[in-house]
Amino acid sequence: MENFTYDVVIVGGGAAGFFTAINLAEARPELKIVILEKSKAVLQKVRISGGGRCNVTHAEFDPKTITTYYPRGEKELLGPFHKFMTGDTVAWFEDRGVPLKIEEDGRMFPVSDSSQSIIDCLESEADRLNIEVKLSQNVIDFKTVDIGFQVNTALANYTTKRLVITAGSSKKIWQLLSRKGHTIVSPVPSLFTFNIDVPELLALQGLSQPAEVQLLDANQKPWLSQSGPVLVTHWGLSGPGILKLSAVGARELSACDYNFKIRIRWVEMQTEQLEEIFKKLRLDRAKQQLNNGNVLEMPKRLWNYLLRRSDLDPTDLWSDQSNKNLKKLSATIIGDQYAVVGKSTYKDEFVTAGGVVLQEINFKSFESRVIPGLHLAGEVIDVDALTGGFNFQNAWTGGYLIAQGIASSL
Ligand SMILES: Cc1cc2nc3c(=O)[nH]c(=O)nc-3n(C[C@H](O)[C@H](O)[C@H](O)COP(=O)(O)OP(=O)(O)OC[C@H]3O[C@@H](n4cnc5c(N)ncnc54)[C@H](O)[C@@H]3O)c2cc1C
Repeated sequence: MENFTYDVVIVGGGAAGFFTAINLAEARPELKIVILEKSKAVLQKVRISGGGRCNVTHAEFDPKTITTYYPRGEKELLGPFHKFMTGDTVAWFEDRGVPLKIEEDGRMFPVSDSSQSIIDCLESEADRLNIEVKLSQNVIDFKTVDIGFQVNTALANYTTKRLVITAGSSKKIWQLLSRKGHTIVSPVPSLFTFNIDVPELLALQGLSQPAEVQLLDANQKPWLSQSGPVLVTHWGLSGPGILKLSAVGARELSACDYNFKIRIRWVEMQTEQLEEIFKKLRLDRAKQQLNNGNVLEMPKRLWNYLLRRSDLDPTDLWSDQSNKNLKKLSATIIGDQYAVVGKSTYKDEFVTAGGVVLQEINFKSFESRVIPGLHLAGEVIDVDALTGGFNFQNAWTGGYLIAQGIASSL
């Protein structure tokens, strides 16, 4: 068994680990830093992220606003984002020859549209700064010793003054941290789409409509709702509105094994308002069929579907509609209920909610309050975000602040 000594050992060669190492080496070039990576290659998640393009961050430059994209971590990340956030990330990569671009929805990618640019940048910076990267080093244990920590892999022992754990969503590392006194919020999936077994709805596949979606409790009362585009897929519902609900409600939806009820308000109006609109249409379009013309500015396919769902025949005339019919149609449009029967992964972007409980971290330098000298950042802590580049921003911010914290105290 070989023995090595370093100033700083970083466990996990992902986004957070590399960002910590590089910023620390820039601030304190004399420090001996090593990244221990269990697999045969580093930055694997960066490689596959954003469909191979790496959605590096999100064009939201206000610290308070960006925190609202974090169902877990909203309060805690406010301070850190005041110190390092989007603008700093953009400048950081641009200064190192990787310009970023903003897409219409705010997501930011390397101009090259290739995650390889980010990987090349991080690897060459690590190389330039003499950061050692050791592959196939699965960290299985650590303990505190006089000078700091002793870290063990199956192949070697590492003695170090400071220890940084950026091991992502690793069950083994969470178990290890739990044995060392940390509290771990049990991991559950976040960012998923809803499976719905209603063939008539699924026939609308590809259609997107802004709507409010509510999660209902056992008494049919809404307990969580989100507005945003809802996309019908061949297995159910997706789109930003659904993904946000899945993230905010991740824990509760896991607890009910992804079997729950939702209600969709296809237009943001009250039933009475809708009834009035329909009564007017009954007069104005008396001799026209219900499926004629653009009603409520919704796609025709959706309108016809909602007519049929209200037991109305789209080819019937407006003049033939009773008040009862119009009431039922209004009720369907603002209270369209479905049973969700499971979940599906969103574009393979499986994000995990859970990890080291946030109260046990000092967010000035992401240092453990349980084990002084140990720092934690990235997905290993109980922070996760909506899709759009926010999860990487958490990794960059945490890594940067760990680097500053260690640089000024070691
Ligand atoms: C398919 C996919 C696409 C994504 N796309 C985006 C996107 O475009 N934008 C975005 O913001 N987020 C995206 N995410 C989320 C993002 O990838 C993560 O939030 C981010 O990678 C977390 O970084 P990290 O450094 O904390 O962890 P990771 O990137 O997971 O790195 C952790 C590293 O630690 C290593 N490790 C684990 N255990 C040990 C151990 N015991 N010893 C040594 N090493 C260990 C792992 O092998 C890994 O290399 C995506 C996720 C997935 C799965």
